[in-house]
Amino acid sequence: MSNLTAHAGASSVESADLAARNLQERLMSSGHDRPEGDRCPICFDLIELPMGHHSKTNVCCMKSICDGCILAALRRGMNDRCPFCRTTRPRGDASRLAMIQKRVHKKDVEALSFLGLKHYFGDLGLAKDVSRSIELWTEAAELGSVDAHRQIGHLYYYGRVVDEDKPRGVQHWQQAAMKGHALSRRKLGDVEYDNANYQIALQHYISQIWIRKVTQFHQGNVQRRSRDQSAVCRGVTGIPRRRGRDEESPERGSKETALLDF
Ligand SMILES: [Zn+2]
Ligand SMILES: [Zn+2]
Repeated sequence: MSNLTAHAGASSVESADLAARNLQERLMSSGHDRPEGDRCPICFDLIELPMGHHSKTNVCCMKSICDGCILAALRRGMNDRCPFCRTTRPRGDASRLAMIQKRVHKKDVEALSFLGLKHYFGDLGLAKDVSRSIELWTEAAELGSVDAHRQIGHLYYYGRVVDEDKPRGVQHWQQAAMKGHALSRRKLGDVEYDNANYQIALQHYISQIWIRKVTQFHQGNVQRRSRDQSAVCRGVTGIPRRRGRDEESPERGSKETALLDF
């Protein structure tokens, strides 16, 4: 090997090390707050985790609305429209799908990710189509969707319905974690733990606990601030979960929850 070739090889190893160190620094210095999209658009509170158990997503505006605000709207007699955008609830799968597709055409990242999930499970009368799901999630991820990053990460890391590609899966979890996604952060901790990088694993776990604690602290303040809000929170369990309307929150323990919440 010539000196020139040896030098080129050494410098490419150095630049790979540098890139890895930079990525690690960015990972540890960012994503300590949850994404703004995790706030209810009505009360601006962060929705409790896992969000699918404490909110519903309305397909008219693709906004996730917290259970407290849904209950408050029901008590005001607003049963037939979205409490955020006031759109009349769609009836039937076809009209729900039409609403989602309308937003997909406008490149709404939440709608892209949501429709990906519908194709994945073959809901709303759609044929099950994993390739289309990945296509939609990839587009949503490129447009900045945290949810799409974690879904793709999950598919590739565990090799579900696609060929296993752990580095690719980890890359997507890293993108989601840097935007404040707590569960992706925890998965990165698990990956480092399995590779015996205990110090880095610990940092990821601490970051994930911090994100969850901040959420709980924030919600504790909201509940103390308003007696009405506490009453709403106590009554939340009384909200009927009517899957098949325009809200599409997965039931606890369902196949969708398994994918969404790992
Ligand atoms: Zn709310
Ligand atoms: Zn709406």
